[in-house]
Amino acid sequence: MSGLEDLYREIILDHYRSPRNRGELAVPPAHRVEGFNPLCGDEIVVYLQVEGDAVQDVRIGGQGCSISQSSASMMSAAVKGKSVADARRIIASFKSMMSIHTQAIGGEPDDDDPDTVDGAQALSADDLGELAALQGVVKFPVRIKCATLSWNTLAQGLDEVAAGVSAGG
Ligand code: ZN
Repeated sequence: MSGLEDLYREIILDHYRSPRNRGELAVPPAHRVEGFNPLCGDEIVVYLQVEGDAVQDVRIGGQGCSISQSSASMMSAAVKGKSVADARRIIASFKSMMSIHTQAIGGEPDDDDPDTVDGAQALSADDLGELAALQGVVKFPVRIKCATLSWNTLAQGLDEVAAGVSAGG
């Protein structure tokens, strides 16, 4: 298992050192949303360009620990160019991956229990690709908020765009 953990650590460090989609987008037309994790001091700014039902572009700003920043980088790469529906599905799968492990830490691991997968359309571990590297974070529950910060921020941004909050009002 240590070989896999080394690989995961390399993926996280690679995204931390060379973050994807780093920068800003003009607002408007892009939508800007901020997230903050007071437990760790992580800040994430997500710039979101949604056209029709597609996430045309994503840019990431902010600063914080390696987990929060590499997770944001992986997120941007995962959802950029996808449909809004696919982006929401990826968000749900990622958060489900984190919450399954949270429950496993807190209580009895129910490996036989199909209840652990609520999201009917959850992606498989293979589909998550690089995102699986962040599974290791769940061994440190305080870091889970670091890993999910950018995803919650993106979800908020998608909600706001869908509600028309960015329309200059
Ligand atoms: Zn953090």
